[in-house]
Amino acid sequence: MSFDLRRELNPEQYLAASTIDGPLLIIAGAGSGKTRMLTFRVAHMLENGISPHSILALTFTNKAAAEMAERIHDLTGVSRKELMATTFHAFGMKLLKKYIHLLGYKDNFTIFDASDVQTLLSDVIHNLGYEEADYNFFELASLFSDVKTGRASFRSDGKSELSHVYTEYQKSLKAYNALDFDDLIMLPLRLFAEHPETLAEIRKTYSHILVDEFQDTSLTQYSIVKELAWEHRNLCVVGDDDQSIYSWRGANYRNIIMFESDFPERLEIKLERNYRSTGTILEAANNVIVHNTERKSKKLWTQESVGSMIHRLEPKDEDDEAAMIIGKIRELRFAHDYPWKNFGVLVRTNHMLPVLENRFLLTNTPCKISGGASFFDRKEVKDIISYLRLLVNTKDDVSFLRVINVPRRGIGRKTIEKIRATAESNQCSLHEACSLVSIATDSGMKGNQKKTLADFFALIEDYREKLFHAGKNKSKVLMALVENISYKDYVIDQYPTNEKAVNFKMGSIRTFNAMFGRWERDPDNNGSSVFDYLNRLALSGKENTDDDDKVHLMTMHASKGLEFAVVFLAGIEDHIIPHARTLEENQDSLAEERRLFYVALTRARKHLYISTCMARHRGKELTASVPSRFLLEIPAHLVTTEDEEAKPASKEDLSRILDKFKAKLDAK
Ligand code: ATP
Ligand code: MG
Repeated sequence: MSFDLRRELNPEQYLAASTIDGPLLIIAGAGSGKTRMLTFRVAHMLENGISPHSILALTFTNKAAAEMAERIHDLTGVSRKELMATTFHAFGMKLLKKYIHLLGYKDNFTIFDASDVQTLLSDVIHNLGYEEADYNFFELASLFSDVKTGRASFRSDGKSELSHVYTEYQKSLKAYNALDFDDLIMLPLRLFAEHPETLAEIRKTYSHILVDEFQDTSLTQYSIVKELAWEHRNLCVVGDDDQSIYSWRGANYRNIIMFESDFPERLEIKLERNYRSTGTILEAANNVIVHNTERKSKKLWTQESVGSMIHRLEPKDEDDEAAMIIGKIRELRFAHDYPWKNFGVLVRTNHMLPVLENRFLLTNTPCKISGGASFFDRKEVKDIISYLRLLVNTKDDVSFLRVINVPRRGIGRKTIEKIRATAESNQCSLHEACSLVSIATDSGMKGNQKKTLADFFALIEDYREKLFHAGKNKSKVLMALVENISYKDYVIDQYPTNEKAVNFKMGSIRTFNAMFGRWERDPDNNGSSVFDYLNRLALSGKENTDDDDKVHLMTMHASKGLEFAVVFLAGIEDHIIPHARTLEENQDSLAEERRLFYVALTRARKHLYISTCMARHRGKELTASVPSRFLLEIPAHLVTTEDEEAKPASKEDLSRILDKFKAKLDAK
């Protein structure tokens, strides 16, 4: 189980991993082993007797956290559950689970994701009597996020329509006992300020704190680690200012400057050797990033061979691009005997993924979209599961609140507060309270509101009864409920001009229902209840299925920290990257686009393909594309349009592959 730190790490990495106490700053380029070093650093601490419960390792994604925990487990045998390797949001959630009652919330709060927030915003605007069509919910959510995290403010008189909507939004979240993502960061900070005794307790718990991808930590996230580490000062942050790609979310290298002034006694270590990429890929990346002026100077070098040239693809349009990429993947897979998961296809925006995904599906090429919302995170799936949860357990207040206004029933914040107060004074569930309020004579509510509540209560009771008697036809009852509440009309209301979106969402519901149906008919499930099923689902839905051998499709943002033997960059065109929006802005946003391109380039280990379409569909029209200006920054001698790579190099190669093939067949 033991490992030799000196042998695993180069001298600089070793110094960083073995310096356990005191503040440590490591700003180093892509692929220089930052994340790997952090992992060994934690393993080393554990070997030196530091308790796993005292270590807090913060990473950017759940996936990165899970991988780190897995690796540390392999190195030391310490169980993954004991380790606090997690994201800022998950850590905030953990703190709040324990302490949120001190801030006047109930313990069983719900997290509202982006789609929930937009639904709530539209309800709020509707209930305030404003015109929903006047608002762009996406922009509104982003403005409110800025306000909440202190990056923007409303006019000081507090009387503007927007600040009105914001106040009501906040009150509604509270009424639903719900938190948005920003609350997961801001409420812990409020907790620290208002209840210093909790801060003292948490400080004592985590004696050593590590942060990966520090350049993308927001100022408020930084405040959390700073508070926690302030006394013991055992805070190690690693990052790369060249890979800062979330300044629009309030993260930028200002954190690095703040760290430097908050922890002046820090040790600073540079890592300059890149272990990931071939010389060619590294040279290309180095040449692109030097065009950014405001950066910590660093130059990565490698002992890897020069490797193959960077390949340019020039498809006709995006459909052709998808086909060409899949063709290349298949050739390379054959030529080098690579598994599917060695391939990553990266794009600038989420909108570019469906064309690719579609073609992968058509050609039976296994792929997965990484970083996107999982099936069980889709709003429509969550809605339907919440109904089912409420049907099997009317005490589930969280589910009650999720569905009471889905589809919209005109139940406003005041009514929710009334139901909640009634539940509290009668010590009953919200569902029961809903019925109590609907028959109370002194509730001060209008007759039609009472009727709405009575109807909702009756609906749930009716379907509870049906579900109870349904035997193995429970999924049919669920579909009947979907029909009864006219869920489809609700979706159409939200997407009046987008038939595709409506079909997609109703399709998700049918998919879930089919899964549910298969479960209830599965003879192995005798004896387990719907309740068990839903709980298991909640867990497995979140489980990592990343070991699957599939090509990874994702946005460049989501590719941070990852690596693939072969990387395809699709749509490397001006107005895509750099993004059209940033071209209208300023040099800062152009620099950020360049960093994003740098992140994308440096994901590749062996082969890099860069594709530029000659034309692209904008709406129904096909318009000519211009290659990205960043391509001019890659030295021409590193790039070719020929592609010999993808074909087996020789007869020997071919016979080697055939032998392997035969061996596989024999093994079967
Ligand atoms: P990024 O900036 O993209 O997050 P990083 O600095 O975190 O990159 P890692 O992902 O930790 O880099 O490492 C990049 C690759 O180099 C990995 O495949 C890792 O296993 C390998 N590597 C790093 N250091 C060493 C080393 N000392 N010996 C061998 N391989 C190493
Ligand atoms: Mg990393």
